[in-house]
Amino acid sequence: MSVTQQQILATLKRIRGPDLQGNIVELGLVSEVVVRDGRVSFSITVPPERAGELEPLRQAAQQVVAELEGVSAATVVLTADRAGGRAPAATATAAAGPGARAESPRVAAARSAQGGAAQGGAPAAAQSHAHSHSHSHQHAPAAAAGAPRAATHGARKPGAVPGVKHLIAVASGKGGVGKSTVAVNLALGLAALGHKTGIMDADIYGPSQPKLLGLSGKPKVGANNRLIPMEAYGIKVMSMGFIVDEATPIIWRGPMVVSALNQMMREVEWNSGGEDLDVLVIDMPPGTGDIQLSIAQQVPLAGAIIVCTPQDLALIDARKGLAMFQKVDVPVLGIIENMSYYLCPKCGERAEIFGHGGAKHEAEKLDLPFLGAIPLHIEIRELSDSGKPVVATHPESANARVFLEIAAATWVAIEASAAGKAEPPRLDVSTDKASLKVAFEGGASYDLPAELLRVTSPSAEVQGHSPSQRVTVPKKRNVKIKELRPVGNYAVRIVFDDGHDTGLFSWVYLAELGREKEKKWAQYLAELEAKGLSRG
Ligand code: ADP
Repeated sequence: MSVTQQQILATLKRIRGPDLQGNIVELGLVSEVVVRDGRVSFSITVPPERAGELEPLRQAAQQVVAELEGVSAATVVLTADRAGGRAPAATATAAAGPGARAESPRVAAARSAQGGAAQGGAPAAAQSHAHSHSHSHQHAPAAAAGAPRAATHGARKPGAVPGVKHLIAVASGKGGVGKSTVAVNLALGLAALGHKTGIMDADIYGPSQPKLLGLSGKPKVGANNRLIPMEAYGIKVMSMGFIVDEATPIIWRGPMVVSALNQMMREVEWNSGGEDLDVLVIDMPPGTGDIQLSIAQQVPLAGAIIVCTPQDLALIDARKGLAMFQKVDVPVLGIIENMSYYLCPKCGERAEIFGHGGAKHEAEKLDLPFLGAIPLHIEIRELSDSGKPVVATHPESANARVFLEIAAATWVAIEASAAGKAEPPRLDVSTDKASLKVAFEGGASYDLPAELLRVTSPSAEVQGHSPSQRVTVPKKRNVKIKELRPVGNYAVRIVFDDGHDTGLFSWVYLAELGREKEKKWAQYLAELEAKGLSRG
């Protein structure tokens, strides 16, 4: 049975307009609908600067039509409204009425406004058909070029991203330093430490996260037209690569990127099962140009991490990155040195081929935390290239451990940044070494049993290397605290008498443990019982 234009328009009435008022058909935003051998194509008119933000609308329209009986494929593109910044709803009221056909001149006009080839009154729909298999964003940047520089409204800081507690950017002064590789392994490391983690691939010049994580396909659209992030190795993944077509290079502009990025971040169901993401890692485009600045300015970042290599002479590029974030008041959480030393895959020997401690020294000079040094190791590259990141697939390896340490240091820096300049609490180990008293400036004070601290340790050993591997540690009834080792100004490493010493207890975590002591303890006991384990 072949599908008719009327059936398609009737279905499209289910899709709400850009401001969630009315529907796209009655608002007059749908072009003529072309049906050929079960293949349907049409365009939806939107203001150019909203093209990024309205991507879900396009997807939803495409999906409802694709699901109709008799439709083998649907191609929907967004086209620019001639009026530029005008809200479609405003023009649409005048154009209201079911006549999709009435929109053709507007679409044609929009095309000529783009400087495109709206030759000799060719029907707009035919043009849109010619663009089948292309995506909205291939039109949008061209349209945005004619729009007023939206960067001017970038001064305001946007609100938090729904479903995400902390957003951090992983940036580099230039390409090829391993920023994406570090970003993905850092995200996996944060997940291994028990934090709900996502990664947002904003590297428009080479969106590589899906490949690094072995993902293919595109995210689905869920309820309320929200995108469902993809998932790999326990972390949630979104990528600008999902909306750009590799075959069609795009000339991105700052405002366009921010608009598309906001779309890919805000219209997404990050929260799952009622739980927000603790951290969303943003893999930034390399460099410190206009685009990076727009992102730094307009995405509510908790902080940024700068990846560099020892070859970057005196970290000139890293310094540029630092200056960029400082300019827009984004705290730099620290520097990571990648390809720092050569680790021989055969003998494990460490060779400091680029000299030692350069980035660490520079970080100190710049008064920035040094988060760690990653070796140049073939395993890291091979596993990345095959979509099996080392932290997820070889969690016990030396390379994975390096990333886990960096993830722990990063988390501490995130919390420290979030907590502002909180004074460290007073820590007193009881004489029998069986509990720790944590007294915060200004009142709150908690007695935390060594056993509770040990079994909730924020370490990969306890939290597992991914949420699915979360471990319940039994038989710690008599564990004692052997030593406290302060880490920076925001955490303490607790050494227990059973040898466990990899947990970094930040002040924020200790406060949370104190506040939720009963709940955490009950959870632990329930887990023990469920797994048939005992306190020993
Ligand atoms: P960027 O995002 O900075 O452009 P990538 O993460 O894409 O850089 O890394 C560039 C190349 O270097 C990739 O082939 C990657 O596998 C490799 N690479 C990155 N870090 C390391 C490392 N520590 N050891 C070995 N190869 C690495």
